Parts: sequence; structure tokens; C-alpha cells
Amino acid sequence: PADWSAAAAWALLPLLRRLRPVRAYPKARAWVEVDASALRRNAEALMGLLPDGCELMPVLKCGAYGHGAVKSARVLEGCGVRAFAVACAAEGVELRRAGARGTILVLGWTAPENFPCLARYGLTQTVTELPYAEALSAFGRDVDVHIKVDTGMHRLGLDAEDAAAAERIFELPHLRVTGMYTHLCVSDSLAPEARSFTGAQSKRFFALAEELRRRGHDVGRLHTQASYGLLNYPDARCAYVRAGIALYGFKSAEADDAAVWPPLKPALSLKARVAQVRELPEGAGLGYGLAYTTPRPSRIAVLPIGYGDGCPRDCAGAWALVNGKRAPVVGRVCMDQLFIDVTDCGPVQSGDCIQLDIAALAEASGTITNEILSRLGPRLPRLWT
Ligand SMILES: *Cc1c(COP(=O)(O)O)cnc(C)c1O
Repeated sequence: PADWSAAAAWALLPLLRRLRPVRAYPKARAWVEVDASALRRNAEALMGLLPDGCELMPVLKCGAYGHGAVKSARVLEGCGVRAFAVACAAEGVELRRAGARGTILVLGWTAPENFPCLARYGLTQTVTELPYAEALSAFGRDVDVHIKVDTGMHRLGLDAEDAAAAERIFELPHLRVTGMYTHLCVSDSLAPEARSFTGAQSKRFFALAEELRRRGHDVGRLHTQASYGLLNYPDARCAYVRAGIALYGFKSAEADDAAVWPPLKPALSLKARVAQVRELPEGAGLGYGLAYTTPRPSRIAVLPIGYGDGCPRDCAGAWALVNGKRAPVVGRVCMDQLFIDVTDCGPVQSGDCIQLDIAALAEASGTITNEILSRLGPRLPRLWT
């Protein structure tokens, strides 16, 4: 009987743990904080720039740039948003299952194996070429589509000069064309060559739309601008603006300038606790490869966040905010940890909460904030305030 009860207890243990779960404290290590009111205010500020008849289409791809897609969608629906964009069908399905209504535009390619998801969840699929549109139509269920037009970026889309191919898409039996769009690839720059390239892209796009209208087709809702397209060309006459990075309150790069810049505030902050603080003499090597040598007696704090959480391995020069002062990231970032130099930052001890600067992480690692945000890892709990 003793064995028997031991065996029974062993079998019941997982069940008991489920009944009385002890949850991991979310601020125990490193986490992402999202300020819902900042996201809401950013959405309202961008909406304030839109011409009449133009709607904000928040881009919620990649977990809403690390913020969390479902929660972001709820906040934005509360601001009156009725259309979202995602990169792939699975992201659209996640939003629908969580109750998102309105248009969900899939910007990227959807494999034929996933066509059933488009119909089942009422997703609007981007079609980029005639053979793909034919395959989608042959699937045999009615699907809303937006036609993507390549006007010079040479990524996705059918050639802006190919009105014949576009027209054939309108005539396919199971596709309902509810919009057409293009992507501007240098709209973040105000340099004269960039402005003229963007002008040429717009011209090609609207010429195709006009030609299709002339041939009797309802081209639906037209859109060309992402964040910088709106900030640099606020007067474009479109039906949607597909806003990502600006909606989240970040510039792609610190040095970026734009024709208009409404008051936007980052909605996301990246935080971590201090795991350990140590005093090192001048000339001490630090971390993997001893890649950093202290140039003076230094106080170094170890933060329990690393490249596994999305901090680039090489981001020397990035910084965290400690007691209102900048503590530079030093040494090589590890998978789960990194070092900051807190020598000039006043008192610091293990357990303290530290904020890492996203813009500085991007700049120091030679990338843009979009990349840092979209790579923030699933190990970081998302805490909404
Ligand atoms: C990601 C994406 C956007 C949003 O870009 P931001 O620069 O973050 O505003 C818009 N349109 C397309 C097609 C995209 O892939």
C-alpha cells in the first residue's frame, strides 16, 4: 500500500500543481512594458494627419512590433480603427480568433495550403501576380483581395505597366478586389532624388488605377503610404495609411527627419533587473572573448537579458538608464545576459529595475528600431499598463 500511495501521489502531482499554480513573477528578470494610453494617443495623433476619407490601417505584424498583436488590436479598435494589416495568414487568424473585426489585410504571400484560412477567417489576401491570383481563384471559395503593384521597389507586386494582368485579376470568378496598393521604398528620405523617385512611384500607381477605372473596374481602396510615407507626404490622397513604427511612437533612426512630426511617444519600454554588481580594477577583461577591458576601475552591473531576448550580440555603445544617467553596454552580449558600466551612475544594487534604450540599441548595432522591436523575444513577458 505504501508503494501504491506513493505512485498515486506521483500521478496526482501535476494535477495538484495545476489546481494551485504558483506563477512566475513577471518582473523577476526582464520584460516589456506597454503603455496603452501612449499607443492610443499615437493612433489619434496619426489619425489627425489623415486627409478626409483616409483611414488608419495599423500594421500589427510580428506581434505588433513586439508589443503584442491582440492587445494592441483591442486598444486600437477602441480608437475607432476598422482595418489592420499583418504579414502572414497565421497572424490574421490569431487576431480573428481573439475577436478582431473589420478588414485584416495579409501583406505577404500565403501558401496555397493556407488558402482555407483566408476564407474561413475572412482575411483579405494580397495578390502579387496573375498566376497566384488564378490559383487563389481556383481554390473555389470567395476571397477578398488587394492587388499589390510594383512601382519601383521590385519586391512584391505586379508591374505597374501591366494593366492587362491586373484586369484579368478583376475578372477571376472567386476573387473580390477590394483594394490596390504599392509600397514606397525611399519615402523616409527627403533628399531630392528620393522625393522624385517617390513621386514617380505614386504616379505609376495612380496611372494604373486610373486605367483600370477607365476600363470599368472598381479598384476599391487605394493605399501607398507606410509611416514615413504619411509623415513626409501627408497630402497623398489614399484610402488607408499602413502605419507601423510611427504608431508605436518610434523613429526608425534617431537622425530621421520628416516633413511633419506629430507628438508621438514610445509605447514600449524594455526593462530588466540587476542580477549582480561587481567592482573591477583597471585592465580587467570582461565576458566572452574578454572582448572588453576596463579602461579604469569600474563598477559593472550584469543584467539578465541577452541576445536570446532580442538585444543584438554586438551593441557596444548602447545604453541603459540608471538613476537618470546613461550606463553604456560593454563587452559582448551573451544569450541571456549583458553588462552595463554603472561606474558614473550612483548607487546600484541587485534587484534594481533598469530600462534599456531601444533607439540606442538600434543605433549601436547598425540597424533600425523596427528590427529591435520585432525581434524582442517571447521569453519577455508583455506587461500592459
Ligand atoms: C511593415 C509594412 C508597413 C509598415 O511600415 P512602417 O514603416 O513600420 O510604418 C507598411 N506596408 C507594408 C507593405 C509593410 O510591409
